[in-house]
Amino acid sequence: MAKKRGKTTLNKSEIAEDWCFECKDGGKLMICDYGDCLKAYHPACVGKDDSVLTSDIHWICGKHLNLSFFKQI
Ligand SMILES: [Zn+2]
Ligand SMILES: [Zn+2]
Repeated sequence: MAKKRGKTTLNKSEIAEDWCFECKDGGKLMICDYGDCLKAYHPACVGKDDSVLTSDIHWICGKHLNLSFFKQI
């Protein structure tokens, strides 16, 4: 039953991994906002508060944070 909607916008949370990249467990995860990175993490596993799940803040996983950090130098 594949319903096709008019919009082709990919919902990242639907295609992202549904386990935490750090502890390989499921649950409430936040997804890296970097490009097409689909890594998901527990906020706690990356030193964040659970409130980031309900806020609109952009978050980039450590891997990509380092990449963009090096680009800036
Ligand atoms: Zn975790
Ligand atoms: Zn990432």
